Amino acid sequence: MDYSFAVGQNQDLLVRQDMTSTEKDNQELRRVIRLMSSKMERNEAILKSFFEMEIRLLSCSTLAELLDLLLVEFKEYFRLTSVNLILLDPEGAARDLLDEYVPPKPGHTLRFVKNQRLLKSIFPTPELKAGELTDAVKKLAFPGSPFILSSALLPLIRHDCLIGSLHLGSKDPGRYSDSFDYDYINHLASVIAVCIENCINQQNLKRMSIIDMLTKVHNRRAFDQEIIRELSRANRHQSTLSCLFVDLDHFKLVNDTYGHQVGDRVLRSVGQVLKKSLRKTDFIARYGGEEFAILLPKCDAVQAQQIGDTIRNKILKMIMHNDLGEPFRISCSIGISSCEVSRYDHASLEDLSTRLLKAADDGVYTAKHNGRNQCAYEHFDLEPRSGIKLVSG
Ligand code: GH3
Ligand code: MG
Ligand code: MG
Repeated sequence: MDYSFAVGQNQDLLVRQDMTSTEKDNQELRRVIRLMSSKMERNEAILKSFFEMEIRLLSCSTLAELLDLLLVEFKEYFRLTSVNLILLDPEGAARDLLDEYVPPKPGHTLRFVKNQRLLKSIFPTPELKAGELTDAVKKLAFPGSPFILSSALLPLIRHDCLIGSLHLGSKDPGRYSDSFDYDYINHLASVIAVCIENCINQQNLKRMSIIDMLTKVHNRRAFDQEIIRELSRANRHQSTLSCLFVDLDHFKLVNDTYGHQVGDRVLRSVGQVLKKSLRKTDFIARYGGEEFAILLPKCDAVQAQQIGDTIRNKILKMIMHNDLGEPFRISCSIGISSCEVSRYDHASLEDLSTRLLKAADDGVYTAKHNGRNQCAYEHFDLEPRSGIKLVSG
């Protein structure tokens, strides 16, 4: 029997079967390659977006700017439902820097904690937590956002210390899972921790150089710089700049009677009263021991005298207490000067500032001489004296 045909047929069949299995293998290979390349593209896009965010984080120069980036822009950029941040701030240094910071809209929370208790209950071990949260942790991490179905909780660590935690929450249950790899986010958490620390340190250093630590108003150094800036601004806008010099009456007696600590408390309270009584654009400094200097931009002599009297009355109404809880009051004398600056060149502004301040100081002298607890306006002659250059025209 001739089997050659059948053998030939079988070989053909085998070859065809071989081809189809190779084709299938190829198809599978192509599918895997397509999958891998799309995964690579996705990873590249994620990496790029993380790099972009990293550069933005590193370029923040203030804590307020950094917080806005983390709490507001992160939410939009990474399409999150909620972003929450907890910062360890045992001495209130970070909060002090955020004096005028407007907290972000609802949906975000920013919390400062004085100790690590809350952080430790979120992170029993200081590692990133991803996926679904237990109800208890969700309440801690996203108070007021019960719709979070998956999240990444990032511990912020500096020098082996847990300094905060950033919580990224999503309504999408599949957004974060404990089976994913979070190298990028872990890296970003380290960058965020460094940026927070840097911003706080840098701002604190700057603040210490311009703020009086006892009263928390500006110091004399800051005032001397600000008066030139304000005179220059007044010169440009041809507006009036007024200056008040506030000197507490018989303050030595306060120290002698109640002690230095009580005296310090009085100085702090006066600083707060001055801050609360004036506009955001006014500038308050502790110029010396019990003397405060104030700049009132765009404020003429009449208005300055009204403000001076308001301040004098507020200080007079302050009820202070000694260490035994007994009440006492203080008074102050205020010297006032103002000048409408125009037509002076920049070189003469320094001299002008000395004269403006001297006039206010002379006002204090007059007020003391006339019996204290009063204001005295000292006329400020704008006529250029020798040494003050008038710009031609
Ligand atoms: P006058 O009404 O003439 O201004 O009298 P005065 O006692 O206020 O003025 P004087 O210049 O004689 O004394 C100022 C006092 O301010 C003396 C000093 O002990 C006190 N002083 C200065 N700096 C501080 C401070 O940082 N803390 C406290 N508690 N006292 C201070
Ligand atoms: Mg004095
Ligand atoms: Mg005094």
